[in-house]
Amino acid sequence: MPIIQLVPVEQMSLSMWDWEAKRLSKKAKELGINADIKPFRALYDLNTNKTIVMSYYMDHDSCPFLDEKNLCKAYNERPLICKQFPIQTVSLEEKPTVMKCPAIKDAENMTKEEISNYFKEIFDFAQKNDSLIEWQNKKIIELLKNKKIRPIKDYPYNFLLKRMNNSEKIDFTEYIFEEKITIPKEIEEEAN
Ligand code: SF4
Repeated sequence: MPIIQLVPVEQMSLSMWDWEAKRLSKKAKELGINADIKPFRALYDLNTNKTIVMSYYMDHDSCPFLDEKNLCKAYNERPLICKQFPIQTVSLEEKPTVMKCPAIKDAENMTKEEISNYFKEIFDFAQKNDSLIEWQNKKIIELLKNKKIRPIKDYPYNFLLKRMNNSEKIDFTEYIFEEKITIPKEIEEEAN
């Protein structure tokens, strides 16, 4: 995949979709918070000379939306990655990965079905996030095969970063809307 990470993974804290980044940035502005939401994964398209941004991250060690009582100041706008905590990944075939959390002790001994019953809505959020990732990956492959997107190849990373930083940027969802590509209902529900 010609998608590149714009910052080292150790620097990336909370990853989010483009529509979530917009929502959280708006909330941060309302609350006077410096959220520092920046593009995380992107590709450079030679057909349009634009950087297509696939996902964003928050450039903070600890989330600036957390208040002094450890509550979220952006609860209604929080991204899927927060909604699905402590479930890390869900795939169709494998058991979900559950992160360490004091609320649940023996997730590693639970079956996929037990995890889904235990976490209920959280499990659904994790599933939704994973199906969006899968959809985005498949769509990019399709766009590459059809030459709708023509990524830069064999370009030194630092030069590519500079070129991307200086280029016009478009969010993947905006690109999809502009190209009138059918989107799954999960994205439509989430992005509107
Ligand atoms: S739930 Fe809220 S406070 Fe916690 S990481 Fe997500 S946005 Fe930040």
